[in-house]
Amino acid sequence: ANNPDATIGVTGLAVMGSNLARNLARHGFRVAVHNRSPQKTRDLIADHGGEGDFVPSESLAEFVGSLSRPRAIIVMVKAGAATDAVIDELVPLLDRDDIVVDCGNAHYMDTRRREQALAVRGLHFVGCGVSGGEEGALHGPSIMPGGSAASYQKLGPILTAIAATVDDVPCCVHVGPDGAGHFVKMVHNGIEYADMQLIAESYDLLRSGLGAGPAELAQTFTEWNEGDLESFLIEITAQVLGHTDGRTGSPFVDVVLDQAEQKGTGRWTVQSALDLGVPITGIAEATFARSLSGHAEQRDAAVSAFGADEPTGWASDGFVDDVRQALYASKVVAYAQGFDQIAAGSAEYDWDIDLGAMATIWRGGCIIRAKFLDRIKEAYADQPALPSLLVAPYFADLVAKCVPSWRRVVAAASTHGVPVPAFASSLSYFDALRRRRLPAALIQGLRDNFGAHTYRRVDAEGAFHTLWARDR
Ligand code: NAP
Repeated sequence: ANNPDATIGVTGLAVMGSNLARNLARHGFRVAVHNRSPQKTRDLIADHGGEGDFVPSESLAEFVGSLSRPRAIIVMVKAGAATDAVIDELVPLLDRDDIVVDCGNAHYMDTRRREQALAVRGLHFVGCGVSGGEEGALHGPSIMPGGSAASYQKLGPILTAIAATVDDVPCCVHVGPDGAGHFVKMVHNGIEYADMQLIAESYDLLRSGLGAGPAELAQTFTEWNEGDLESFLIEITAQVLGHTDGRTGSPFVDVVLDQAEQKGTGRWTVQSALDLGVPITGIAEATFARSLSGHAEQRDAAVSAFGADEPTGWASDGFVDDVRQALYASKVVAYAQGFDQIAAGSAEYDWDIDLGAMATIWRGGCIIRAKFLDRIKEAYADQPALPSLLVAPYFADLVAKCVPSWRRVVAAASTHGVPVPAFASSLSYFDALRRRRLPAALIQGLRDNFGAHTYRRVDAEGAFHTLWARDR
């Protein structure tokens, strides 16, 4: 048997778990490692055992026995039933005050349930969001731990050591109790969906409007990556557009089937936003756009019914910069909506989440890392109770400057038949927010008319009902 002296354990050694374990070992932690099928554990030790101090175990009991107490165990298995299976097997082997950290992409409601179940047994359960894919897991992800403050006392120094850093600040902070970490990770992924859809719409518009090829557009994105839009996603957009398919010699993007897949975090974000009553229209449109792309039969039928007349080269001078500005403004909307959702979730579940801290830990390591997040961090530092990110002086000023371009782009897209659900919905959201009187007044009138739902007045307190005449 191993001595019980490993600092941290990782069970689940597929790509994410093994890279996280290597990251921990490279930072000098003694890491206990385990996987249901022992071959993955053996492979990790054979391929990377020299990178640090690993303690491999083939049984879960042996793995638990190799950890110093209170134990801290990272579970990095397939999200869902597998996580419950591992927890059920783990719990009887644990002692009071031990900490189980689920770094998989769990739904925050599952995390809340698991935390309550383990708390009854005197165990800490920490739902912890990890972003950055396999590269991030190895070289420094953005880490979003929830769970008790007590558990973070032990976990904090370990997780901050392996997280990405920006300006010497680690991309890891205790987000809040129970499901807060997984909730924030979910919204992060929702914003990622919106960001990617906006980039995809920009590409589609430029390709259609300019009649430009992918390689030429790769250059445009490279240039954009030197300004306000500088971000990981813009950088890899240039890389993907510039890539040539080895098999055909065609632009890579032209040989990829145009049906976007999803693992579900976008859908969860939208479902939660509906429950919380937060209009995250950009994220919702991005999620639906992926669904629509997959409806091949409907798409074929529509092409047959309506034809697919797709003129190109219709754009005039200045279009590239218009699209850049429309992208920037729409991106501010997507983040504003995402941060609204975090604020609403925090209020609903009493998590007391610091929004500025979320922007801070997303500056590095994660998929949505961007220069932009520094500005969001500053906006919340200046004004913690900001009503919307859109009205923070820095963003309000920039967005106002983008408005003419934003309108031209949405108008041109609609004139030339280029679908821009995320651009158009973001502009509508902006217009709705800033409109003095919304037609919601008419909706209230209709509701009162057909269902006596009552309405409030602009000039008096209370609920009113009008006796509507019926001619029947
Ligand atoms: P994965 O393919 O999601 O899961 C494979 C791992 O789960 C294997 O270690 C497998 O063990 C284990 N497993 C599955 N069912 C199990 C069960 N019933 N009992 C015990 N172990 C079980 O692996 P991944 O891509 O590395 O992702 C791990 C987690 O990280 C997931 O929750 C994922 O959502 C999350 N995540 C992934 C990324 C990413 O970029 N991939 C980014 C952030 C978060 P065996 O080897 O024995 O089959």
